[in-house]
Amino acid sequence: MYPVAKINLAALAHNLQRVKTLAPNSRVMSVIKANAYGHGAIEAAKALHDSDAFAVARVAEGEQLRDAGIQQPIVVLEGVNSAQDLLSASQHGLSPVFHHFSQIELLLNTPLPTPISFCWVMLETGMHRLGLMPDEAEKVLKLMTECESVSGPIGVMSHFACADERNDFRNQRQLDLILAFAKEHQMAISMANSAAIIALPDSLMEWIRPGLMLYGVSPFDDQSAGELDLKPVMKFCSKIIAIRELNRGDQVGYGGTWTANKETRIGIIDVGYADGYSRQLSNLGSVLINDQISTLLGRVSMDMIAIDLTEIQAEVGDEVVLWGDEQLPVERIAAQANTISYELLSQVNQRVKRDYHYGEA
Ligand SMILES: *Cc1c(COP(=O)(O)O)cnc(C)c1O
Repeated sequence: MYPVAKINLAALAHNLQRVKTLAPNSRVMSVIKANAYGHGAIEAAKALHDSDAFAVARVAEGEQLRDAGIQQPIVVLEGVNSAQDLLSASQHGLSPVFHHFSQIELLLNTPLPTPISFCWVMLETGMHRLGLMPDEAEKVLKLMTECESVSGPIGVMSHFACADERNDFRNQRQLDLILAFAKEHQMAISMANSAAIIALPDSLMEWIRPGLMLYGVSPFDDQSAGELDLKPVMKFCSKIIAIRELNRGDQVGYGGTWTANKETRIGIIDVGYADGYSRQLSNLGSVLINDQISTLLGRVSMDMIAIDLTEIQAEVGDEVVLWGDEQLPVERIAAQANTISYELLSQVNQRVKRDYHYGEA
């Protein structure tokens, strides 16, 4: 069935081992928010069973994993945003991050059936997204420690704004802030995402939070996944559903934005923006067909794209790789779409079948 995202679970396990080699003294909180960056959260969690914990963005994502029988601690990065969220976190054994006083009010005002544990305080160190200033974090920590609804040690977490920019002075500044706070309060630290795990070894600390690299994608512009010994997990494919011959002057697709300047053979592929294939790839995206690179002609439609087959041997029914092959990594397609791999991967939606396999890793 096409379009399909073929998911190599052996590659996922390989990439986790790669993380562990880079950070042998840290425990691993594998980030599987947003349906594991489009790869399927439950299947990814099972393939990543060697993780010490998982992290998701929202309570509902954690509920889904618990309902599927996932046993590890599950950290909710955005924390709880209603009494109902907090009750669910307690019932499902989820571990919220606390980044705002409103969340502490919920904690103090909502009786819980079971205390929550493995909780985290999010410290503001420079991202200015979620996080408490050190003096606020200190107050929150005290309230949480005294609260009967919280059990066990509380860790401190923060997030780099520029980890993928090598040698950026802001990274060290963020690190210094969390180190100072954690030292004063004797807390475990979690700071490093994928880019930091690779490029900022000083930031590893007690708990690391890899996301992108688990999926076999490089966080850096100047280093490929292969060079980092990461294996791409998703291969996004569809197939040719029509082939046609165009005359000079014929136009392709909505708006007629591409015009043939000679006789041209085109293939129509069964994928479009309603599957999560970016419309930004109109007239410039690359695809791989029978080991040859071809280019999109005209705009991406809701359900279809057109590609140039003039120089390529191909038939109706042939498979087309949209990204995820060694010859066509998602990093390259993201650059063409003027975005990042995170966005392309996480936008592959429910209309696209996931096919899981244990391929070579
Ligand atoms: C998404 C996320 C991560 C994972 O980042 P990658 O760059 O994918 O490794 C880590 N920490 C937080 C807080 C996140 O939101």
